[in-house]
Amino acid sequence: MFSKVLIANRGDIALRILRSCKELEIKTVAIHSTADSDAMHVRLADESVCIGPPHSSKSYLNIPSIITAAQLVGADAIHPGVGFLSENANFAEIVNAHNITFIGPKIEHLKVMGDKIQAKIMANQLGLPLVPGSKSVILSLDEARFEADKIGYPILIKASAGGGGKGMKVVDDKKDLENSFVSAKNESRAAFGNDEVYIEKYLSNPRHIEVQIVGDKYGNVVHLGERECSIQRNHQKIIEEAPSPVLSEQEKENLGNLAVSAAKKMKYENLGTIEFLYQDEKFYFIEMNTRLQVEHPITEAITGLDIVREQIMISSGKKLSFKQENIKFFGHSIECRINAEDPMTFVPSPGIISQFHPPGGLGVRVDSGIYSGYQIPPFYDSLIAKLIVHGDDRQHCIRRLKQALKEMIIEPVPTTLELHKQILDNEDMNTANYDIKWLENNFLSK
Ligand code: ADP
Repeated sequence: MFSKVLIANRGDIALRILRSCKELEIKTVAIHSTADSDAMHVRLADESVCIGPPHSSKSYLNIPSIITAAQLVGADAIHPGVGFLSENANFAEIVNAHNITFIGPKIEHLKVMGDKIQAKIMANQLGLPLVPGSKSVILSLDEARFEADKIGYPILIKASAGGGGKGMKVVDDKKDLENSFVSAKNESRAAFGNDEVYIEKYLSNPRHIEVQIVGDKYGNVVHLGERECSIQRNHQKIIEEAPSPVLSEQEKENLGNLAVSAAKKMKYENLGTIEFLYQDEKFYFIEMNTRLQVEHPITEAITGLDIVREQIMISSGKKLSFKQENIKFFGHSIECRINAEDPMTFVPSPGIISQFHPPGGLGVRVDSGIYSGYQIPPFYDSLIAKLIVHGDDRQHCIRRLKQALKEMIIEPVPTTLELHKQILDNEDMNTANYDIKWLENNFLSK
């Protein structure tokens, strides 16, 4: 087992990883920018190293600084967390080249899944059903027109290097193709330094359903059930639940087996999430995330497993300690992502939190790095807390979550807390009658 893990991240996720390390009696090292000197992950880690100025390109994405910090403190592994360098194959290669273990999957899998076109080619070979679309990068507007006509409007232009819904443009009509093609390429270049795009059929009313898989270095792969993440804005998840409220037991089993079979064929190790759209009782692969997910706590709630602990054990060479038949699912769990944002425009609202009161009680979990007096830096993601509730069944979980939302106080910065309360009070949420457009179409416009 590792003796010292450097956590190359910040906020709630850095704290989350730190907790699992402590339970495994592994020493922890926090890294931080100058804007995060007072952050909770820095206070609670055994050691901390300041790795640069606030802007993430100079700190949390600064590979030489992070490697130097790891060497300085003698860390034998690096956990990249979520976002930042977590899916960066170049970073993982450099970490390994310094005889430090990258806690994550194999480099080849980071590479192939990091390129969405390559990922689709691989998914096809692995037997996963795809959304109809172009088979390779679209190089010119003429090619885009040709492909779009072949697929049929509406289509979706997607960035090959995509993530977080960036570089994605829906095109309803031929006449808008040129503008959208140019702006998708520009947005992608600005966000990822790569302007490669491809085209997919835009499904009209799908649900987003993903499967958590976990594999060790010895070919054992198990799925930990599915998560439904259809409540989104700007193609980004805002509420997730597990299990999916709409799949039959048979569909759940088939989906889990499909994901496990694909992961086994590619000899996948560590944590992975295979994401699908689900429409008219059919699944379509959209991407695979080769890392821990923000929404992992809902899977932890229904399985009772510490997923980060599993991740660390696998990277240290341990075999999975359970088989598929040992995984039992209990009750229902929902996560609300609380962002420091204007709840209607989603514009980030950094500032000082003068009052923070987390809710409590049985089945209520808050993953957050904030505290009363905390200053939210304007440089990073606006996610400041995750509220995760577990109940005996979906209705119980909703009742418990409503109460937890009422108890939660984050003042005075604008947050999405109020929006979550309104969503939970909505009849469509109560009956799980939503798809990926529900929030934007039928709720935010009201
Ligand atoms: P990213 O990596 O940017 O998050 P994804 O491929 O995971 O991109 O898609 C994010 C979200 O965008 C999905 O959850 C879904 O809401 C929407 N989306 C993606 N592909 C399609 C599609 N072909 N049709 C309709 N919606 C889509």
